[in-house]
Amino acid sequence: MSKIDPDEKLTFYYRGAARARAVDIVIESIRERGHDLVEVYDEFLIDVYLMLDKSRSKHVAIDWDNTISADPDYFRQLILKLQKAGYSPFVCTLRAPDKDNITEMVAVLEEAEIPIYLTDGKPKRKYLKKLGLKVHLWIDDFYPAVCGDACRLLKRNNIE
Ligand SMILES: [Mg+2]
Repeated sequence: MSKIDPDEKLTFYYRGAARARAVDIVIESIRERGHDLVEVYDEFLIDVYLMLDKSRSKHVAIDWDNTISADPDYFRQLILKLQKAGYSPFVCTLRAPDKDNITEMVAVLEEAEIPIYLTDGKPKRKYLKKLGLKVHLWIDDFYPAVCGDACRLLKRNNIE
């Protein structure tokens, strides 16, 4: 993977209670691309949060705005790597389910064909749970979109 322009670097955060193969894959790709990774929770510094959730699930939920959209080349390759390792990455965004939104995402994702869930502003974790989807790893720039301000998922990932 080619290195990111230093001005475009993102700062990822991970300090979950457990190690997981999916997290290792993401961390390795962050290093390859030249993004930064921190373990100290500082909301002014962090661009994208990695949050480990259900240990037995293979689903990786990736946000769109200011996450995939912040470095589409990187995320396209990460999606392929996760798929190769047996994970099922998909997009989960707060955006409304309209045709233009989907068309834009499909165009940017190119060959990385993955499901796209548009929650229309609803908290993502609850929304996906209703569909029977449990998530292993969340990748999102805005953690309150995943499960609000006070849920155990945040505590387990040392976000408070
Ligand atoms: Mg976002």
